[in-house]
Amino acid sequence: MDYFRYVRGELFAEDVPVEALIEEYGTPLYVYSHRTLARHLDAYAHAFAEVPHIVCFAAKANSNSAILRLVARHGGGADIVSGGELYRALRVGIPPEKIVYAGVGKTDDEIRYALGKRILMFNVESGQELERINAVAGRMGVKAPVALRINPDIDPETHPYISTGLRKHKFGIPIENALEYYRLAKRLENVEIIGVHKHIGSQITRVSPFVDALQRVLVLVESLRAEGIGLRYLDIGGGLGIQYNDERPPHPKELARRLLPLLRGREITLIMEPGRSIAGNAGILLTKVLYLKRGDDREFVIVDAGMNDLMRPTLYDAYHHIAPVRKNRRRKITADIVGPVCESGDFLARNREINRVEQGEYLAVMSAGAYGFSMSSNYNSRPRPAEVLVRGGEHYVIRKRETYRDLVRGEVIPDFLQ
Ligand SMILES: *Cc1c(COP(=O)(O)O)cnc(C)c1O
Repeated sequence: MDYFRYVRGELFAEDVPVEALIEEYGTPLYVYSHRTLARHLDAYAHAFAEVPHIVCFAAKANSNSAILRLVARHGGGADIVSGGELYRALRVGIPPEKIVYAGVGKTDDEIRYALGKRILMFNVESGQELERINAVAGRMGVKAPVALRINPDIDPETHPYISTGLRKHKFGIPIENALEYYRLAKRLENVEIIGVHKHIGSQITRVSPFVDALQRVLVLVESLRAEGIGLRYLDIGGGLGIQYNDERPPHPKELARRLLPLLRGREITLIMEPGRSIAGNAGILLTKVLYLKRGDDREFVIVDAGMNDLMRPTLYDAYHHIAPVRKNRRRKITADIVGPVCESGDFLARNREINRVEQGEYLAVMSAGAYGFSMSSNYNSRPRPAEVLVRGGEHYVIRKRETYRDLVRGEVIPDFLQ
């Protein structure tokens, strides 16, 4: 459920006609709905209210400072995967005791930074990482709070590129070796075992993979308890899907209904790491039709947003609904909607049936709030779009459109070329 809808044939973001935003800020333009973000955050908090829990928003889905601040204001924490994300989260006031840190390639510098800031815990992805964390913590004279990221070998039945919880993936520690690694952790002097973590993939549209994975992890929790290793935190990761097209993903309430019976009565704090289900349908990407062109066997609608602005179609062959900013009753055409980037893979949609559009009109790429701007690049030296947050009838720039000057920031011409 989101707050982008048509009023008399015109697309609105909450109470603002998006054409007004285009007039003021130009295109391509990311627009987010405050009310939608707040609603999605609250949906998790309400659904899981009866157990102690922390909603750690996955910062990589959308790491804009204003969005992260909004998360903080709603009592949320952050799931981070780099020192850069830690910096962003702390800077906007996400409390360190609500920050969890995953990722297979944490560097010594990043570990030191996170230890110094006293984050809640490291979600450790390998035996060597565990030993690095132990060593760095030792040098700093602190104890590192850790959870082991367990790979439960569950197929989330999603796109292979966003599936992470199978034996063959680089993430986590295979569940059959988990006990062994927990014993190793117990022997290490400078780590304190406080939890267990799993995250099996993204855009999961059924509840059962979550249930199956949690059941496997709970078996491990029991074995650990039997060995005298008690856990305080159970981090179930993120991954709940959203509706891009005709998916019918479960609501957090549905997830809670199936997971809570497994969790009740345990003295453990639940951590969730939703990203896409918070931000995905809270954002759209607005773009202008530059040219229409007839190809050999298809029509091309060439727009001013490209794969550098929204990579998901190219990267995952992902579907994003494309809607006219102003509805029309023209005949349907089947077209490839493509960007200006010099790559054949630069498309937002292929073989898509849309109402015919004219040069100069605007389209909205829906469900672009997660893994949209955060995956954007400057490829082809394209300044990245502005980002705007709408709240009721108000709108705020939360990231300025980049300039040509921004493109060369940090570049240096060595003396010998002067
Ligand atoms: C990406 C990621 C998430 C968020 O996944 P969504 O599908 O966006 O909810 C959560 N936890 C970890 C460890 C991740 O890598």
